[in-house]
This record gives sequence, C-alpha cells and structure tokens, in this order.
Amino acid sequence: MSNYEVIIVGGGPAGLAAALVLSRARRRVLVMDTGEPRNAPAAHLHGFLSRDGMPPGELLATGRNEVEAYGGEILNATVSDLVQCGKSSFSVLLADGRRMTARRLLIATGLIDELPDIPGLQDRWARDVLHCPYCHGYEVRDQALGVIGGSPDAVRYAQIVRQWSDDVVLFTPTDSLSIDQRSQLVARSIGIVEGTPERVLVENHLSGVRMEDGRVIPRTALFVPPRFVPNNHLLLRLGCETDGDGWPVKDSQGLTSVPGVWVAGNVANPRAQVITAAGEGSASAIAINADLVAEDIRIAVDAFALGH
Ligand SMILES: Cc1cc2nc3c(=O)[nH]c(=O)nc-3n(C[C@H](O)[C@H](O)[C@H](O)COP(=O)(O)OP(=O)(O)OC[C@H]3O[C@@H](n4cnc5c(N)ncnc54)[C@H](O)[C@@H]3O)c2cc1C
Repeated sequence: MSNYEVIIVGGGPAGLAAALVLSRARRRVLVMDTGEPRNAPAAHLHGFLSRDGMPPGELLATGRNEVEAYGGEILNATVSDLVQCGKSSFSVLLADGRRMTARRLLIATGLIDELPDIPGLQDRWARDVLHCPYCHGYEVRDQALGVIGGSPDAVRYAQIVRQWSDDVVLFTPTDSLSIDQRSQLVARSIGIVEGTPERVLVENHLSGVRMEDGRVIPRTALFVPPRFVPNNHLLLRLGCETDGDGWPVKDSQGLTSVPGVWVAGNVANPRAQVITAAGEGSASAIAINADLVAEDIRIAVDAFALGH
C-alpha cells in the first residue's frame, strides 16, 4: 500500500492543473485517471487562451508531462471506492483491488452529458451536433443552425446561438412557448419548428432533421443542451453533501462538506470550460496545500511540546 499526501481522482484539466500546483509545492501527489475526458470526441478545443485549436488529447498529454517533470505520479486506473479512515486519512480503492492512502483528496471526475433520445443524434456528437456555442459556434458561424428544444433553457439557448448565425431554427414541442418567448424569437428572426424530431439526417455530414409528421428541415449543425449529470458517486460514498440535483456543496475553493475532500471542474460546476476547470483545480490545490501546512504546524508543535 502506498501513502500520498494528496490523491487526485480524475486527470482532466481540473485534476492535472491541481497536480501541477501540488507537485511544484513539493507534495507527494498521485493522479488516478480512467482516461475518458468529456471533450475527447471533439477534434479541437477552443477558447483556452494560448491553446486555441489544440486537440484535447494534446493538452492533457502536455499537462501529464509537466506534472511528472515535478515528481507528480499519474496512474491510468479507475478508482472504485473511497473510505475515510481517520480525521486526516483516506483509503483509495482501485477497480483492480489495489489500495492507497492519502491525507487529502481532490475529486475531479467531471460530468456525463445525457443527450435527448433522437435517432442519429448521438452518432454526430461533437462533429455537427454540438452543445456549447462558445466552444464550437465560431466553426459553424453563418450556417443553417438548429437548436433542439424541449428543455427549460432551450429558448434562451436559441437566442444565444443566434449570435453565431442569422439562420437559426428552434425545434420545440407543439404549444410549448409562451407569448413572450414566441415574440422574442420572431423579433430576432429565429425560426420556430413545432413538433417532434424523428431523426437526424446525414449525407456525409449532418443535412437536416426529419419531423414525425414527415417534414424535413435542412440544417448543417445542431445545438443540443444536454442534461448534465455530475459524476459524483465517489463523493456520495464519502458522505459529501449535494444539492437537490446531485451537485456537491462546496466553498469558493472547492472544499466539500467533508473536511479533507475537495472538488474541481465539471464534477461540481457544469458551466466550467477547460480553462475554468483548470483554474478551479489550481485554486483547490492552493487551498489543499494551505490546509496541509496548517496540519503540519499542529503536528510539529505537538512533537515540540513532547520534546521530540
Ligand atoms: C464535445 C465537447 C466539446 C467541448 N469542447 C470544449 C472546448 O472547445 N473548449 C472548452 O473550454 N470546453 C469544451 N468542452 C468542455 C470541457 O470538456 C470541460 O470543460 C472539461 O473537460 C472539464 O474538465 P474536468 O477536468 O472537470 O473533467 P474531464 O475533462 O471530463 O475529466 C474528468 C476525468 O476524470 C476521469 N474519471 C472519472 N471517474 C473516474 C474514476 N472513478 N477514477 C479515475 N478517473 C475517473 C475521467 O475518465 C476523465 O479523464 C467540451 C465538452 C464537450 C462534451
């Protein structure tokens, strides 16, 4: 069994940024990562100053090299369980049966995007079915865009997507719009297609949406607000408090309701972009190191008092 000062579960931008700060702070740190970051299906990442257009895997490979250069360890492994063994000790169990301990934990396991069940949609995910206009809207600017509605935020979302094209259509269930919503959409020339999408059509690339009533609406890209589900089961095992939707309760540095356990990135913040997730990882790492220093002081003072 190996002992670490900090174990980080999840080696996406949040986890690796934290590992970089902690390894540079000369902490014994281990990152464990299953290797399935959320944006893996995307060819390029955008909106990260100085990294715009980089393949997501290249950012993570660079980050891993930087962490390892400072002595941080990275293990390609899945954490299956976490157990608190004492006030300042956590046991980390791997899916293959190995076990490690850590004084502090950072959980950066991301989230799961649940897409509406429309045939053909999932196959085009991250190609011409997109979720975030800030990530990929520029790449489909001025095209014939569609927004899949039906969720509470879909109308506002269509208004935001409108920033990238004059040709936007909102697909929405029949009679689902209020008078205000309808007039705001019409005022900004956003088309309204009422009914149920039956299938996403593809001819080399996405070509349109067929409705259940047989209409075909030509589109070259679709924006879909997914349902974000926090990958929180390890936090629940530790007894971390969550809100009604399962998002962990945390302070501004990512400390959860369980002392010694921090979160960063999409596991606690569905709005976090890559740069935000990395920033949250960095902030949590600084808070974790400060917490360890406070404990190191207490241990040193007790030992001093005992004359050791
Ligand atoms: C299709 C798509 C495209 C995107 N494009 C962009 C973009 O262009 N620009 C941008 O800023 N943002 C983009 N995003 C958002 C971006 O993916 C997130 O902001 C970012 O991934 C959040 O980082 P994270 O570290 O919190 O989580 P993740 O990157 O998802 O990393 C979490 C890691 O934890 C690992 N993990 C989970 N559970 C365990 C476990 N039990 N044990 C070990 N490891 C585990 C996972 O395998 C994964 O590697 C995109 C998202 C999607 C879905």
